[in-house]
Amino acid sequence: MGVFHRYDVRGIYPSELNENLVEKIGGAFATFLQPGATVVVGHDARLSSPALKNSLIRGLTECGVNVVDIGIAATPVVYFCCYKLGLGHGVSITGSHLTKEYNGIKFCDEAGIPISNEKGLKKIGELANSENFRVGNARGKLTEKNVEDAYVEFMKSLTKNNFSGKKIVVDGANGSAGKLYARILKESGADVVEIYCEPDGNFPNHTPDPMKKEFIVDLEKKVRESAADVGFAFDGDGDRLAVVDNNGVMCNPNHVFAMLAEDVLKDNIEKNKNDKKIVHDVLCSKLIDDVVAQNDGVSITWNVGHTLTATKCFEENALMAGEVSGHYFFREANYTDDVMVACLKILGVLKNSGGQLSELTKKYPRFYEFQDRIPTRADAKFKFIEELKQYLEKKYEIITMEGVRVNFENGWMLFRASNTEPVISMGYESSDADEFEKIKKIADEIIKKIPR
Ligand SMILES: [Zn+2]
Repeated sequence: MGVFHRYDVRGIYPSELNENLVEKIGGAFATFLQPGATVVVGHDARLSSPALKNSLIRGLTECGVNVVDIGIAATPVVYFCCYKLGLGHGVSITGSHLTKEYNGIKFCDEAGIPISNEKGLKKIGELANSENFRVGNARGKLTEKNVEDAYVEFMKSLTKNNFSGKKIVVDGANGSAGKLYARILKESGADVVEIYCEPDGNFPNHTPDPMKKEFIVDLEKKVRESAADVGFAFDGDGDRLAVVDNNGVMCNPNHVFAMLAEDVLKDNIEKNKNDKKIVHDVLCSKLIDDVVAQNDGVSITWNVGHTLTATKCFEENALMAGEVSGHYFFREANYTDDVMVACLKILGVLKNSGGQLSELTKKYPRFYEFQDRIPTRADAKFKFIEELKQYLEKKYEIITMEGVRVNFENGWMLFRASNTEPVISMGYESSDADEFEKIKKIADEIIKKIPR
């Protein structure tokens, strides 16, 4: 089925993903679990989300699985219900950062870790397709629960700081997270200016994708107008974060990650603990390795994708992980991509240093860097990367842990197929201007060959 990807379900509503299919997916997930299991269900602000949620709940309960409906919720809140409140497995009905035509489903286990293909999503897809459902003896029970207060209290318990005197602009992108996250920041003492925090599935102000610069301009402007210390922008389901500094300029995600890594490593040293590991994805700057090393830490390069990242973090007992796409995973939140924890840590750094964000990020050396996500045909993306490997292998030494990467003397270049979208993600970086130009030429030639 075309809507099943490696980490989640995504499709255009209703042509690809509709009530009928989602009810089957509910039956499939119930069959994958056991009759009598419990699933927490939350949904984002999209117009189609309430209807899809009801279909999913019908599919689940008819196959004997109990459901706790938490209503409109950011995806990290669904994870929280699993790893902290112990309510069961979790489902978030969300199209995440995609445009309003889309919707999707993210599944997680009892630890709040996403169920990827390898962990069962493939099986769920097969069951939905075959409609070979296991029906329990009794219909599952449906209860409603408001977990917002519990989540707010948990987040507040993670910081000893009071952020009075700090002014923050929050851009909720009219998604499911804005109001809740603004509330946490307010209750932590900060002066919060809200833009687009009312849920509205038409996304009348901008697409809920904070990693695209064109969707950050309103936040940048508002930070300048209100002379705020920082701006936070979230995606449609609140698991991605972009940060705007006190000058109203979007921070480089590598700088945000470096600051967070430095903070958790210093905090760890203060606590006299010997945990040092920071996990990052293959598209992160060398800056992360350098900052981690300078702070006596150990950095681990790992594959892109929440499930793999979280699994690696548990294995290594890492302090945190990050992806250059704006996902941050902390031990305190069981390595779920709970970006509210990142916001609280950034504010903690601001508070404790007494400095401004633009000053704090200035100390990081600038690399020449370029990143892009190039649309391609879904059926061509993996084949393209395979052919690229064969081509580059003849000329360079390549690394194929994730896509294909070439290391240069002072930099690197990487191309990989996105697991979730018909997109080739690519990037290159160098500390040397001439080498950067050389890599750019090579990369531009490759980009021309990507099938459109
Ligand atoms: Zn998201």
